[in-house]
Amino acid sequence: MKKTARVIVTYDCPRYCENCCNEHIGNVPEVKFENLLKYEELVITGGEPMLLAPRVVEMIHRLRANGYTGKIWLYTSCIKTARWADREVLKEVDGITYTLHHRPSQNDLRDVRKLNKFILEKIYPWKGKRSDRLLIDSRCYTEEVLSIIGLHETGEEHWESVRPLKWRNDECPLPEGEELVFYDLENG
Ligand code: SF4
Repeated sequence: MKKTARVIVTYDCPRYCENCCNEHIGNVPEVKFENLLKYEELVITGGEPMLLAPRVVEMIHRLRANGYTGKIWLYTSCIKTARWADREVLKEVDGITYTLHHRPSQNDLRDVRKLNKFILEKIYPWKGKRSDRLLIDSRCYTEEVLSIIGLHETGEEHWESVRPLKWRNDECPLPEGEELVFYDLENG
């Protein structure tokens, strides 16, 4: 069995960050659904996978229905807990890595505040502490931002980690043992 697939499910993303890793990745091999079953774990990423949240729910359900027992992780920077599909994805995955990017809007901050509360109240009591990680761009990792997103009230116990993310200007090398693949969730 292969180790880890980092699965780009869409290249679309509304954020247009400077030096996005996807500017450097070149030609990513496209895989069929059956190929995903060959990996020990899957990291669903993009672009912004939650642009297709209902399709991500279907993808996870289909994987499980086909006997997939590996871990499924989600990399995202846009979860809106008011949407059913986002809540469903949050419950189904084994953990998320959520990034709050530089120059967050009021909506971005509100989304993280709601996400923090959702994990505290709906995930943590049910599943215990998972591998949920909150990364905050170091350029906006301030006491004020931590307070706005609610961490001063709730503490961080329900997160595996909350830490500043130093924005990189290199070509984002893949962690060892991971393969980057594209699974066309919009058309697949
Ligand atoms: S949020 Fe991620 S995928 Fe989207 S532009 Fe920024 S770095 Fe790229």
